[in-house]
Amino acid sequence: RIVYVNGAYVPEEEATVSVFDRGFLFADAVYEVTAVLDGKIVDYPGHVARLERSLGELQMGMPFSSDDLLEVHRELVRRNSMDEGAIYLQVTRGAADRDFAFPKHAEQTVVLFTQAKPLTGAKKGIRVISLPDMRWGRRDIKTVQLLAPSMAKMAAKAEGKDDAWLVQNGFVTEGTSNNAYIVTREGKIVTRNLSSSILHGITRAAVLKLAAERGMEVEERPFTIEEAQQAAEAFVTAATTFVCPVIEIDGVAISGGKPGPVAERLNELYIETGRKSAL
Ligand code: PLP
Repeated sequence: RIVYVNGAYVPEEEATVSVFDRGFLFADAVYEVTAVLDGKIVDYPGHVARLERSLGELQMGMPFSSDDLLEVHRELVRRNSMDEGAIYLQVTRGAADRDFAFPKHAEQTVVLFTQAKPLTGAKKGIRVISLPDMRWGRRDIKTVQLLAPSMAKMAAKAEGKDDAWLVQNGFVTEGTSNNAYIVTREGKIVTRNLSSSILHGITRAAVLKLAAERGMEVEERPFTIEEAQQAAEAFVTAATTFVCPVIEIDGVAISGGKPGPVAERLNELYIETGRKSAL
């Protein structure tokens, strides 16, 4: 695999980053993951806008322009002959002698790599458990400090389940690496409103727009695990997951333990429009 590191396209075995890199020492870094369909980047403008916002919240700027960054994505897709999969991008504050204070002069580290994998097959749905949300308070910034969600995912796996829904003050915030939704018995799509409690998912924004355009009712508010367990359907969204049905929550089957029609329809719609607008 050919990866990108600080201006160079190199075989992954040859790519290196300093041991003093603040991404490594402090998780002083942000990232993005975008889907690739037909060799093109899905929802690129949304991802690059969020990258700029995440960097800004950490008092960093963009390492280069949106257009140049798109070119790096495309070049990596070409060099790896990738048709379908994910592109991971990370920007760190750079390498400097270890100190909690930000360095005055450091050159940002920029790394991108591809993960080829099929994204568009039929989904059988996932089983989730609920766990306390142990993450920091700025989940709207897409930082690489992912140990809390990683441990939540492992706790779900230890119970033979697929993922966890995180709960704070009695309400679901989101999944470990996705936004969470229910469909009420009246057919209304409910997902938590945007705040610093959740990541502002790019797929979330696209799916809510698609739903509204199709005349589906959407309500942005917090919901509890109990409400979700009584819902007609549940699902999650993320860049490379698209719309994935949730078929069990804490041992309670949702929509008869099978993917629900609203989630399946939204997944098809998202893939269809994502393909058309991919760059
Ligand atoms: N919430 C969290 C915590 C995530 O890590 C992610 C994506 O990785 C999402 C939501 C979904 O965001 P997006 O649709 O932009 O991939």
